[in-house]
This record gives sequence, C-alpha cells and structure tokens, in this order.
Amino acid sequence: MPNGRDATHSGPTEKCGVVGVSLEERDAARPLYYSLYALQHRGQESAGIVTHDGFQQHSHVEMGLVGDAFGEDDIADLRGSAGIGHVRYPTAGSVNKSCAQPFTVSFKSGALGLSHNGNLVNADEVREELAAQGHAFTSDGDTEVIAHDLARNLLESDLVRAVKRTMGRIHGSYSLTITHDDTVLGVRDPEGNRPLCIGELEDGYVLASESAAIDTLDGELVRDVRPGELVVLHPGGEGFDSYQLFERENTAHCFFEHVYFARPDSVIDDELVYEVRRELGRQLWEEGGIETDVVMPVPDSGRAFASGYAEAAQEEGSGVEFAEGLMKNRYVGRTFIMPTQDERERAVRLKLNPIKSTVEGKTVTLIDDSIVRGTTSTQLVDLLKDCGAEEVHMRIGAPPIVAPCYMGIDMATREELIAADKSVEEIREAIAADSLSYLSTEAVAEALGRSQADLCLGCVTGEYPYDVEGEETDREVTRPEIGGVAGADD
Ligand code: AMP
Repeated sequence: MPNGRDATHSGPTEKCGVVGVSLEERDAARPLYYSLYALQHRGQESAGIVTHDGFQQHSHVEMGLVGDAFGEDDIADLRGSAGIGHVRYPTAGSVNKSCAQPFTVSFKSGALGLSHNGNLVNADEVREELAAQGHAFTSDGDTEVIAHDLARNLLESDLVRAVKRTMGRIHGSYSLTITHDDTVLGVRDPEGNRPLCIGELEDGYVLASESAAIDTLDGELVRDVRPGELVVLHPGGEGFDSYQLFERENTAHCFFEHVYFARPDSVIDDELVYEVRRELGRQLWEEGGIETDVVMPVPDSGRAFASGYAEAAQEEGSGVEFAEGLMKNRYVGRTFIMPTQDERERAVRLKLNPIKSTVEGKTVTLIDDSIVRGTTSTQLVDLLKDCGAEEVHMRIGAPPIVAPCYMGIDMATREELIAADKSVEEIREAIAADSLSYLSTEAVAEALGRSQADLCLGCVTGEYPYDVEGEETDREVTRPEIGGVAGADD
C-alpha cells in the first residue's frame, strides 16, 4: 500500500505525464512547456519544469494548468539546454504543492530532478530505510523516495549502476524522466506499465509519456522506451545510449491507457491509440451489437469506439446510422474528480447536452469507453429518454471495472465502483438502460495485439501484476459475467 494510506482512496499517488529534452544549443524550457501542453490531459493539478544549464539547476513548479503555471518570465528564467517536465493528475484531497513535480534534490555529487508517472508499491519500506540513514523527506509522495534512493546510490556508483540499483530496490509502476546535472535520463519499469517514448528533434532528443508531445515539437517518434530500459540522452542533444537493465518474461502494459487515458493520436507500444479504440469498437459490435436507428458516442471518450462499432455494423449490412447526439461543453473539467456525487451528477449535465432531433423517436445505442461509478451512464440514459429516445442501449468498450487501480490511474474507491458487486443485469437496471453489454478481456487483448499475460488488467480482473502488499485481503472481487447482453431479451 503506497505511503501507508489506503491505496483505494485518493492520495498523492502519481498519475501523470512526463517529458525530458536535451538540445544542442537552445534552451529546453520552451519545448518542454509545449510538450507539457500536449500532455495536459494526463494531469491538471500541477505543472513543472526543471532545467540545467551546465552549472546550475533551475526549477519552476506551480499548481494548476500548464497555461496558468508558467509566465514568459518563468520560461526565460529556466535556462539550459537540458531539462524535464511534469503534469500531475488531480486527486481529491491531495491538492498540495509538496506533491507537485519535478522533484529536485541537490547532493554532494550533483543535482537531481525527477518526474514520475506511476505508483510504487514498496515506497514506505524504502522511505523508512532511507530515513534511518538520515534522509529527510519533505513530502509523502513516491517520487521523493526514488530521488533520495538514486542520490544515495550516485554517491557510491556511476550513473548506470546507480539507476540499476534503484530500479532493483523500488517496485511498482514507473516511467521516469530524470536530470542528473545536464544529463537527461528516461527509465521505464521492467513491466512497462506506463508509457514512455523517445523522439528525435532537429537539434536534439525528447522523451515523453506520449508521442503526441513529440508531434507537437515537430519531432519524429524513434520508438518506445523498452520495459526495464534506461535511456541516457547525451548533453548537447547528440544522441542517446540505451541500457537494458532488467528483462522480464512478461510485460504489464496498462490496457486502460489505450481505452481511456492516452490521447487517440498517440502511438503507445507500437499501437496508434485511435486505431486500437476503433478496433475495440468493432469487437464491441461483434460481441454485443444491437440493431438500432442510431449509434452515438459519449464525447469525447466514446467517439473512436462508436465509429469502429458503426463501421463494423454497416459492413454486416446493418442500417444503423452514426450520429453525434450529445454536445460537449469544452470548458467543464472532468466530472470524475468532483468531490460529491451530487456535484458529479450536476457536472455531467453541465458537460453534455443532447441534440433533440437526433434522438427523438429513435432507438439509440450509446457508446462509452468505460463505466466507473455509473454516474455518466445513468444521467445520459435519463437525458436521452427525456429527449424522446424510444430505447437506449449502452455498449461499453472495456470490461466491467471491478477493482481499483493501484498502478497510477485514479479510478474510484472499491465501494464506489458500480461493477464491484453487481452483475451486468443489475448494472443495467441501475442505469435504467434497455440493454447493456461490455467488452470481454479477450477482445481487449486481441484489439491490443497482445496476450492477456502481457497486460495489466488489474481493474477488470482484480489480479495485479505487482505485489500490492496485502491489499488483496480486503478485496473481494465479484466479477460480473461478461459477454452476454443484459436486458437483450427483455
Ligand atoms: P462514471 O460516470 O463514474 O461511470 O465514469 C465514467 C466516465 O468517466 C466515462 O465517460 C469515462 O470516459 C470517464 N473515465 C473513465 N475513467 C476515468 C478516470 N480514471 N478519470 C476520469 N474519467 C474517467
């Protein structure tokens, strides 16, 4: 359990976007700033950049969105052609600057900056060990633990050995970008749970959680950082070295990155997220397709799924029409992070408004990527029926979420997850849909082109690829049966 807190509740676990840049001559701050903009969807709580000019480290970390966290002067003050950046995911109850990143520490053999996406499962243990050796901690986040452990190892070993020792000591999911003076490093945990990729720029190299950040800089995606790999960008942007420090038989790529979290225009582990989502939509039609007048996405997350679904349906001769029946207010934040259920319900209504003429008197298939608490689907079914929809059938592009994520995505507490203790039919009843079906885990693996053994499916199976330290004991996972269509015969 990370940091002694109940990992099922919001706390300063790290669910974020990371970047790192090493350039020939120009300052890294501006490209870092732009790439953080490209990763804003991965975190809206805080944003930060750390650079190194060869002599000195510079840091600017603020709460809020990237656009609000940096002014022109802040960017100008961040001197140096090497640097890293971070956006942090919002979690209720942890709006706290001490958790904002990149984390910095100066010690005898240099200055370290560290950005982390993921979640360690043994941070407490490592923290206690380091505290006993005299390390003083200023936050209760995992990232500081990694930074101190690395700083300690750097006193005794060279860079590559020090990183290897730290990777051998910490367990859990982590994609890291690190500055050690003006050297920028990228590290991905041995199971490759969170994404990290390398890009080439005209005058240097970039590391980023998602390739969309590389595109924003007009760079070329070189490849994903491999699970267990350390990438060292040469100062001056002249290339990079690769060290395969750990190798595992299986990976544990997070399937939910492809389903919900990542941008559709990013390529993650060799797969374009948009195409994966369309394929998931196609599979959804294969497994639980239903003939209705229209198929419509819950914007924006359901869009690619719905287009794949409609395409597969039409290929089979279905007369179903793809329609945009719900309009999204772009200026409303994520409904998910509203602290109370009442506010969450209000926020869904603020965010989405139906176009009456596309639903009135029609039978509708509504497609979303996932159901977490059930708030969105309950509200939308109700809304569409109010607008005159004759039937509303929900199709979900992922299996039921039955357990929390311990690996860095803020889902909900176990008690809040609608599928934790309900069958698909009970969920259908609760959201008042005419029918409901989810995608099977087999279809997810197929769409991702990987075996289930190479994916982290913890939130839909309750079985995690990392040892979540006794958390299993209070986790009674009731798996709803998947594959059938609840309400189909009603
Ligand atoms: P809920 O309303 O609680 O059932 O949440 C489902 C909606 O939230 C769907 O429209 C998803 O696209 C979206 N969603 C799923 N997972 C997350 C997450 N980790 N953070 C924010 N939103 C999410």
